[in-house]
Amino acid sequence: MAADLAVLGGDPAFRQPLHVGRPNIPEPGKVLRRIEAAMDRRWLTHFGPLSRQFEEKIAEAAGVRYCVAMCNASIGLQILARAAGLRGEVVVPSFTFIASAHTLLWEGITPVFCDIDESTGNIDPDHARHVITDRTTGILAVHLWGHPAPTERLDDLAAEHGLALFYDSAHAIGSKHHGRPVGGFGGAEVLSFHATKFINSFEGGALVTDDEGLAEQVRLMHNYGRGTGAEVRSVGTNAKMTEVAAAMGLTSLENMPYLISVNSGHYRTYRAGLAGVPGISLRAPDPADEVNHQYIVIEVDQEAAGIDRDSVVAALAAENVLTRTHFHPGCHRTEPYVRDPARHAPLPLPRSEALGDRVISLPTGMEVTTADVTTVCRLIGRIVELAPKIPRAALSRPTGVI
Ligand SMILES: *Cc1c(COP(=O)(O)O)cnc(C)c1O
Repeated sequence: MAADLAVLGGDPAFRQPLHVGRPNIPEPGKVLRRIEAAMDRRWLTHFGPLSRQFEEKIAEAAGVRYCVAMCNASIGLQILARAAGLRGEVVVPSFTFIASAHTLLWEGITPVFCDIDESTGNIDPDHARHVITDRTTGILAVHLWGHPAPTERLDDLAAEHGLALFYDSAHAIGSKHHGRPVGGFGGAEVLSFHATKFINSFEGGALVTDDEGLAEQVRLMHNYGRGTGAEVRSVGTNAKMTEVAAAMGLTSLENMPYLISVNSGHYRTYRAGLAGVPGISLRAPDPADEVNHQYIVIEVDQEAAGIDRDSVVAALAAENVLTRTHFHPGCHRTEPYVRDPARHAPLPLPRSEALGDRVISLPTGMEVTTADVTTVCRLIGRIVELAPKIPRAALSRPTGVI
């Protein structure tokens, strides 16, 4: 490591950018062989053997009976909203990726944001209760950062108000809540296999459920409303997964234990490396849960650290460590929702805002080495230590979205 921080005139610690969300590609040769076989079969999409197999393996991993693989999770959520007949208002946490809200609005449903439990980052069922109205038809919860949401309390809340309950589980395949795999909670869950997710199929998603009727409806809708005999039975769209995506997805999924162990190792290295740094704390999952650790998140307590979150992000960027601030500023402070708070955020969301202002997602995954993680920890320690000496001008916030 350079003697000096880059913001103090030293060389960046990393020559190449160390990104959050760099894709995991565990066995590229196997992916290519599968793609080649698909081309040999001249079966490129439309329920080919790879996407079928992918669906079976996903259902197994999620511990459910039905899985419909799709082109991405956003369309999966849209189709779910339609198939389940959601309308009016749906309660959703603000502290999530914007797609959780947009997919609802795209379907003509009003997302109504509720606050989180700051200790977990997940939806707070008590706050959710307060934004339910007579127009509410459902709750879309999120297993934030792959940490399972409070499913038992959400079940009770949904039952109490006669609401549908679904999960945006884009982060959570491979995580377990009290020993039960994510995938079987609520009426259905939607997984994402976008390139930046730890299990990826380039782009991809899947709906998992034990509800046969719902699975059947989603299966029809994602294939132009056509049944197995190609007869048209309802309106539908096209959200099928290609064989190329399934080749990548299957191979990625076969390596899930390895990827979880890499992420867990990085988590432990970060935990040890950041343990003594004032004002920096690592977000920990509930000890009763097992998580995929696909997001490793720290919180910056500005007072204790002597430096604010955005300045830490900027100082790390100067070292070529490109972090993210998932999920700042929160959906309710994002277009178009920010324009109509009375409709979308009827109550203030102080905990979502506070947490969003403090978090940083750090690099992890198989492209990051233990030595990289140790270096990032040392950098964070130095940034906090030298905070008073860092000139404000050296800290301009870098751009970046996801
Ligand atoms: C990535 C993500 C999505 C969207 O998934 P895509 O497969 O990219 O459409 C939805 N919700 C959350 C919480 C996400 O992180």
